[in-house]
Amino acid sequence: GQSQLSVKNAPSEVKELAQTLTMLLSRLSQSWKQEREFVSNVSHELRTPLTIVHGYLQSVLRRQNNLTQTQQEALETAASEAERTIRLLQDLLDLARADSGYLYFQMKSYVLNDLIEEVVMMAKKYSDRIIKIESKVDRIEVKADYSRLKQVLLNLIDNAIKYSEIDTPIAFKLNQLEDRAIVEVCDRGYGIPLQQQARIFERFYRVDESRSHTTGGCGLGLSIVKTLVEGMGGSVSVQSKLGEGSTFTISLPMYSSAI
Ligand code: ADP
Repeated sequence: GQSQLSVKNAPSEVKELAQTLTMLLSRLSQSWKQEREFVSNVSHELRTPLTIVHGYLQSVLRRQNNLTQTQQEALETAASEAERTIRLLQDLLDLARADSGYLYFQMKSYVLNDLIEEVVMMAKKYSDRIIKIESKVDRIEVKADYSRLKQVLLNLIDNAIKYSEIDTPIAFKLNQLEDRAIVEVCDRGYGIPLQQQARIFERFYRVDESRSHTTGGCGLGLSIVKTLVEGMGGSVSVQSKLGEGSTFTISLPMYSSAI
C-alpha cells in the first residue's frame, strides 16, 4: 500500500530500516484507529445514561412545584451540566466519525436567510443580547446539511455571546461572492491575538484558559465548525483584533453552483 517504502535496489541495511519503518507506520495507524474507536465507544456509552439522567431531572423540575429555591437551583445546575456534557460527548462522537470518514451529510438546497433567522431566534431564547441580521441579498440558496449548518452557526453565535460584553452588539452578515454564499458572524468582543488565530480551530485549544475558564466550553466548538463546514464543501476563517472584536466568515457553495 501507500505506506510501503520502495527501496528495491538499496543495500540490505536500508531495506531493513525500510521494513522497520513500514511496520511502525502500520502499528501507528492501527493504534490511531483503536484510539478513535475508543473515543467513539466511550462517548456513546456515556451519552446514553446521561441523557436518561437529564430527562429525569427535567421531569422533576417540570412536575414538582413544592421545591425550595435551593433544591430548584441545585436541580437546574445538575440539568444544565448534564446538558453541556451531552453536547460535549456529541461533539467527540462527531469528530471521531469525521476522522474515520463516517460523518455523513444530508445535502439539500434551502434558503440560507431562513436558517439564519431560525438560529437567531434560538439564540434569543437563552440570551437577551442584541443580534442583528444584515443581508445584502434577499434570498440566497445553498446546498448543505440543514441541521449541521445550524449546529455550525449556533456554535459561532454562542462564541460571539460568550466572548463579548453583554452590552455589545452581535451581527450576522449575509452576502454573495461570485458563486459562494458568505456568512459572517461579527462581535465587538475581546478579540483573539494574531499569533493564536491559526490555532483556535484545533481541538481543545483555548486562547486564555483563565478567562475561558468561566465560560464553560472545552475548546471543541471551532474544530467542529471547521470539520462540518469543510465536510460540506465550504471554508471558515477568522479576522480579529484584540480588544476590538472578531468576525468568523463561512463560505459555502450556492445551490446553482453545487455539484
Ligand atoms: P470554547 O469556546 O469551548 O473554548 P472553541 O473551539 O469554540 O472552544 O473556541 C476556541 C477558543 O477560541 C476559545 O476558547 C476562545 O479563546 C477563542 N474564541 C472563539 N470564538 C471567539 C470570539 N468570538 N471572540 C474571542 N475569542 C473567541
